Amino acid sequence: MSSTDLLAPGAVIGILGGGQLGRMTALAAAAMGYRCHIFCPDADAPASQVTDRTTLADYGDRDALDAFARAVDVVTYEFENIPCDTVAHLAGQVPVHPGPGALAVCQDRLAEKVFVNCLGIGTADFRVVPDPSVLPALVEQLEGPCVLKANTMGYDGKGQALIRHPHEADDAWLAVGARLCVLEKFVAFECEVSVIAARDRTGRVVCYPAVENRHENHILKHTLAPAPDFEDRQEAAQAIAVRLIEGLDMVGVLAVEMFATTDGRLLVNELAPRPHNSGHWTIEGCRVSQFTNLVRALVGLPVADPGVRGRAEMVNLLGAEADEWAALAADPGASVHLYGKAAARPGRKMGHVTRLLT
Ligand code: AMP
Repeated sequence: MSSTDLLAPGAVIGILGGGQLGRMTALAAAAMGYRCHIFCPDADAPASQVTDRTTLADYGDRDALDAFARAVDVVTYEFENIPCDTVAHLAGQVPVHPGPGALAVCQDRLAEKVFVNCLGIGTADFRVVPDPSVLPALVEQLEGPCVLKANTMGYDGKGQALIRHPHEADDAWLAVGARLCVLEKFVAFECEVSVIAARDRTGRVVCYPAVENRHENHILKHTLAPAPDFEDRQEAAQAIAVRLIEGLDMVGVLAVEMFATTDGRLLVNELAPRPHNSGHWTIEGCRVSQFTNLVRALVGLPVADPGVRGRAEMVNLLGAEADEWAALAADPGASVHLYGKAAARPGRKMGHVTRLLT
């Protein structure tokens, strides 16, 4: 297909990754008459359970990727740790959105921060840490507590260590896995917010309102939509997301996590070129969810105004909390989503509950 063709219902969207984000994307696609084909290395993945096509293979399996490319009309991915080589290989055969360039920036913390700063948008002060010998001096330079983060493959606080004093440097280096790192100054934030933007092939961008995210043990627990007491900074936060999705020249959905600092600044912490946990509330809270807008962008439809229905709250069900599904479902005001995961390991995202507040 040419990259300008509008895909008609019945077309097949290939999704790399089989988690809950792929599952909810596939459900949105099905509602619009599209099929999804999941490519992932795990059997019975949450996304595979709601689609009739899965390629069970490693992301490096070129034969499986080639057959997948022939079987789909467009490709996306539902988590950003898919190897860039895999995405670039597919992009030579079938349209892939977001493209490999945007993915390369978003899966590398240094590239991401440099990109964000180049657009004149703030991040926490940071230093590159190629080697542990320089770490104590860099901690001194940043003057105060710091967070050491592995440059790649981090999520939900994994691959991170807090450093309060330079003498903690060696332990922190080992804790994050002794590899190329970014050292960030610890940000005194008032709250953490995120904005999700969606962009279509014509370059039109729509934005969901900034929401507040509250974490427990580095894992998202609560999202409040829109972010409370944030009216005066909504426009600025959304403008940042628009500049970033345009700067990445992305077709698809971009989530921008930010710190709202106690001195009134918005600093970008992380970018995710895919639907985001902090946007799950949009399924019930908006006329057009983040997943529907991703599908619209992928098939060549214009992205649609979100149509926010009112205030909403989303709570993640982590580990054994999902065992309470029957009690939760007894509340007609609670929309309970479960992801079909068998093993409820502590902290694992098993589902979520959204409540509309107005
Ligand atoms: P990340 O994996 O970068 O999203 O970090 C996970 C969580 O750790 C964030 O949502 C924050 O709660 C916290 N965190 C990360 N970096 C910093 C920082 N530089 N200053 C303060 N808190 C941070």
